[in-house]
Amino acid sequence: MLKNLKQAYFLSDKYGLPELDVILMALNIRGIDYRPNLWKKPDSDVEEKMNRGRFKYLPFGEKEPFFFAGTISKDTPFLHNARYIFLNQEPIADAYMPENDTCDVTYYRRAGKAITMNSNSRSSCNGCEFCGTYNLDANDSGDLTTSESVKARMRALTDTNEDTDLSHIEDIGIVTGCFKDEYETVNYILMLRKTLRDYGFQGEIKYIGSQITSPKALDTLEKIKPFGMYLTVECFDRREQLMKPSKVKVSLEKGRQILKMAKKRGMETTFLYILGLDPIEKIKQEFPKYIPFLTRHPIVNLMQNYVPEHENLRDSEARSLDYYIKARLDIETTFAPTELRPRLWENYRAPWSTQYAGEKINGNRI
Ligand code: SF4
Repeated sequence: MLKNLKQAYFLSDKYGLPELDVILMALNIRGIDYRPNLWKKPDSDVEEKMNRGRFKYLPFGEKEPFFFAGTISKDTPFLHNARYIFLNQEPIADAYMPENDTCDVTYYRRAGKAITMNSNSRSSCNGCEFCGTYNLDANDSGDLTTSESVKARMRALTDTNEDTDLSHIEDIGIVTGCFKDEYETVNYILMLRKTLRDYGFQGEIKYIGSQITSPKALDTLEKIKPFGMYLTVECFDRREQLMKPSKVKVSLEKGRQILKMAKKRGMETTFLYILGLDPIEKIKQEFPKYIPFLTRHPIVNLMQNYVPEHENLRDSEARSLDYYIKARLDIETTFAPTELRPRLWENYRAPWSTQYAGEKINGNRI
């Protein structure tokens, strides 16, 4: 994958990408070893339990911190020693202390202007081979499926952050995954809009999932705009093998129809994709088909191993960093003529860190 800085310089030269982007792609895919005892006495509580971690870090030469949320592993050239991040023993960044990456109920993004809610106890959802949320230490036992539980959570959130209300929040993303059916999902979103309005929230509700599929459901949701439809496509090949049946039911063509209908109703539209599961040729074929139906750049997640067995799910080409770089460049070529660009704060596992199709990417990262 990536052994050292010398190889990062080589790949950066070969593909014309910033070295930092090459290094951070490898960091996200391979994960990091956490050994605080190299710097100070180990915090055994953290060290022993953590198989996924999250932390801020500041690559040398950068002004704004980045955010890592990924695998803590021994099988990686990256090391966090509680002070610096190293690539094969060479320091590359200042590191903040990590915390356990749990499947939290709610958290802020976009410098405090966006909230993500795991509404429906996502750790209890299962069925997709590549998904690791049910392998995480869940911190989402108090689910947010009722108006009362949402109100209690919002009160706690605003108190903790000394906010008076949620009028400054621009979007709230809901990651549902596990509702019984479309009817229940739509009713939940309607309840959420009504409840959040009492807290001054007028921003966009982003639905991340694949349970809203009918024109009737979209007609209902059109009335509570601003609304974003984030379809979980995940992969193009081996869909029956890799995903739960309810997700497979939404074929690629059907997914594009849903996005088309949502866009026509004035909603924001995009899709989520895991990079590492499909052959490059398939990526080249499929991404362009979505362009007419999107208002936002696809959210491309570099595939991470939640458990070691996930390595076996990768496409055979996806064992080398060249695969991820080539796929990134193909996606850039597809979207460069459009105005769509990745929003960094929306995705901590993107193949893009500082540049897109030769342009610098700015804006919040966390
Ligand atoms: S729907 Fe699939 S990917 Fe989403 S939380 Fe459930 S198992 Fe994971």
